Amino acid sequence: MTPLEDLLIRRIRATGPITLADYMAECLLHPKHGYYSTRDPFGAGGDFITAPEISQMFGELLGLSIAQTWLDQGSPARFTLAELGPGRGTLMADVLRATKGVPGFHAAVNVVLIEASETLRGVQAKTLAAYAPTWMDSAADLPDQPLFLLANEFFDALPIDQFQRGPDGWRQRMVGLTDGTLSLGLADPMPCPDPRFTSDAIGTVVELCPSAAPIAAHLAGLIRQHGGVAIIIDYGGWRSKGDTLQALRNHAPENPFANPGMADLTAHVDFEALAVAAGFDICSPLTDQGAFLTRLGIHPRAARLATRLSGQALENHLTATRRLTHAAEMGTLFKVMAICPAQCPPPPGFA
Ligand code: SAH
Repeated sequence: MTPLEDLLIRRIRATGPITLADYMAECLLHPKHGYYSTRDPFGAGGDFITAPEISQMFGELLGLSIAQTWLDQGSPARFTLAELGPGRGTLMADVLRATKGVPGFHAAVNVVLIEASETLRGVQAKTLAAYAPTWMDSAADLPDQPLFLLANEFFDALPIDQFQRGPDGWRQRMVGLTDGTLSLGLADPMPCPDPRFTSDAIGTVVELCPSAAPIAAHLAGLIRQHGGVAIIIDYGGWRSKGDTLQALRNHAPENPFANPGMADLTAHVDFEALAVAAGFDICSPLTDQGAFLTRLGIHPRAARLATRLSGQALENHLTATRRLTHAAEMGTLFKVMAICPAQCPPPPGFA
């Protein structure tokens, strides 16, 4: 039994079943036993690998898209360059390296990292020491100035709730105990005013992410008022369907209730919910990651890098390029959406 499992079982015994969002928040961010609080989970030796860890090209191309948007908006003299959930800081480091040659960009930038994990803040401090970043707990703390923001695989880590259609209406899925171990059960039927609760098919599951919409709305508010752009990249779709909760440990899926605090828990991102919260007028069309990176020029960039490589390094580089863009890999599973003022040119990479 993991230490967190013990705590959760005792809590549920004392005060009853908890929501899935509550369970997920404890598993990921419990200050002592949470998955992100206790480790650096990225890379071959970790549990999963993200796009910036796959290839430097990912961050370089995003950096150029952000810098072009900054130029298109009149090169604001002071702006926030922020990242939600920066992991190891690799994406931000690649963005900053790629934008070094953009006149005035670095002189105007305040680098802000929104990160919940003290362990990962430590890793980011090392990676980004040269850029004197500031850490914040929440998007709500972002300063009142133009905002250029990236979020890669951040929203998929936000806690979700699940609701299930039964013969007598919708019931929330709750984490309780069966024979002393953690298991999913159902709460009493409840009224469900959300437009997603339309299905009459028994067993249909709908997911809601309570913390995503307020964040999207807040980013959109800052961007409307001060200018900028937020580029959100994640796995999911326009409307995520069914039960998408997934646990990953050592690059393999496992039961999300088997090892609380030891596995990464994620769910598909529902981009429609983000666009509704931000306002449709300020959101780009939802775009496949493969198409987005292709429009930003990943293939010529990859070919140029390839001329300097040989042997295993060349193999790895070709595999990485394919992984980021191919439809059978991350190319269509991962989506990109920008929050950008309607009156400004859309960031490069969007049709
Ligand atoms: N963007 C990085 C890491 C993705 S993993 C990459 O692409 O490699 C998710 C990141 O979000 C981790 O850094 C995790 O600690 C952070 N995180 C998760 N939930 C968070 C929350 N509620 N607030 C702030 N950071 C959070």
